[in-house]
Amino acid sequence: MSGPQTPALPRILVAGAGIGGLALAALLHRRGFAVEVYEQASQLQEVGAGVQLSANAVKVLRALEIDEQVVSRGFLPRHFIGWSWRSGRMLYKTPLHPSHQASYGAPYVHVHRADLHALLRSALPADMVRIAHKVSAVTQEADRVRLDFENGHVAFADVVVGADGIHSAVRRSLFGDEAPRFTGNICWRGIIPAELLSPGQVLPASSNWMGPDGHVVTYYLRGGALVNFVAIRETEAWTGESWTTPSSKDELLRAFEGWNPRLLALFERAEGLYKWGLFDRDPLARWSVGRVTLIGDAAHPMLPFLAQGAAQALEDSYALADWLTRFPHAPVEALAAYEVERKPRTSRIQLGARERGRTAHLRSPWARLKRDLGFFWQNLTAPGKTSHRAEWIFQHDVTQAPRTLEARETARA
Ligand SMILES: Cc1cc2nc3c(=O)[nH]c(=O)nc-3n(C[C@H](O)[C@H](O)[C@H](O)COP(=O)(O)OP(=O)(O)OC[C@H]3O[C@@H](n4cnc5c(N)ncnc54)[C@H](O)[C@@H]3O)c2cc1C
Repeated sequence: MSGPQTPALPRILVAGAGIGGLALAALLHRRGFAVEVYEQASQLQEVGAGVQLSANAVKVLRALEIDEQVVSRGFLPRHFIGWSWRSGRMLYKTPLHPSHQASYGAPYVHVHRADLHALLRSALPADMVRIAHKVSAVTQEADRVRLDFENGHVAFADVVVGADGIHSAVRRSLFGDEAPRFTGNICWRGIIPAELLSPGQVLPASSNWMGPDGHVVTYYLRGGALVNFVAIRETEAWTGESWTTPSSKDELLRAFEGWNPRLLALFERAEGLYKWGLFDRDPLARWSVGRVTLIGDAAHPMLPFLAQGAAQALEDSYALADWLTRFPHAPVEALAAYEVERKPRTSRIQLGARERGRTAHLRSPWARLKRDLGFFWQNLTAPGKTSHRAEWIFQHDVTQAPRTLEARETARA
């Protein structure tokens, strides 16, 4: 005679195979859940650009046992360095490798998005991701959720997670149609083979050139074989958003006229440039309704100025997988607890990223001087601390956070 049967683990559908969606699916798969990921694109790939991952993000990759591969395909920057836009004067220099690892228990790594994406994909069975499936609607039924796709397909699950980015269809289904906010920033992104640059032109650091109404970030990828740059200018002219609006070297050089020749010489090497507008949202009041929730940019799109969007998507994925593991037969409770845990942290980072843009783009020379004196003083008195006071972000270890009902009540209070 067989004993009472344990109810099966809930079936979970994830919309979106970006960094957050893939990490969540891989974590749930390791814990025995039945998971499927639906991706709108007809090919699984990432844009040709880099991403910076701090210790708090690398710890999630460690839980997936891909952290060492990410590091071996990436680049470990030695410092954060701030530069003055015109003179090229060093404004601050904060040690990163190996001190980040020593302070926070994991390294700070720069990695090509395509490499990160491929490693996340390798952490789950290939047939778990269904491409060319664009979610069009999410409907809550009595004890299940219905997903409708543009291609006519229909799927049902116990839990649905929207990991479908800033224009999330899942978010729209839960909370209505509200466009993200254009932040007044446009952005160019480029990757240049390091062999095309002169020795020492780009230091082995996470460099941040700060000037009036803009800043530029440069760093190495793939063991130093590539240099990635992100160049941001404030504008009032942009109204649309696209990742594929072609731009040209001339347009980029015009936008940064008067900036330091070292930086402009880097832009001279850029090929195949695109530009796009940067959008974000105010922190949402809620992420979850019943058996449906959001992670990553779908829940909290932020400016990239603290380099934390992907990192927070990874943290979300761990927290959500863990709450579902602890309360597998109370998914509504698990989703609510996940939101209670995560929302204060990601809201603070969303607003912090806006603030960092303000201090990086100061127009008044006096305000810049005051800011730079602050950097100078901080470097003198606390040389190990970051200029943007990011220690509280790096310190957090989502893989060790307590996840009990008491912890949830404490967070709610
Ligand atoms: C210039 C720039 C630099 C950045 N640098 C950093 C950095 O250094 N460090 C960092 O941590 N973060 C950085 N970020 C932020 C980071 O890129 C994002 O926060 C991160 O990619 C969000 O991951 P996600 O999985 O939530 O969403 P996404 O990566 O946007 O993935 C969403 C996925 O969902 C799919 N999708 C969308 N709609 C649907 C639908 N209806 N149905 C099915 N699938 C759908 C999409 O095709 C996509 O594959 C940067 C961002 C920018 C713009």
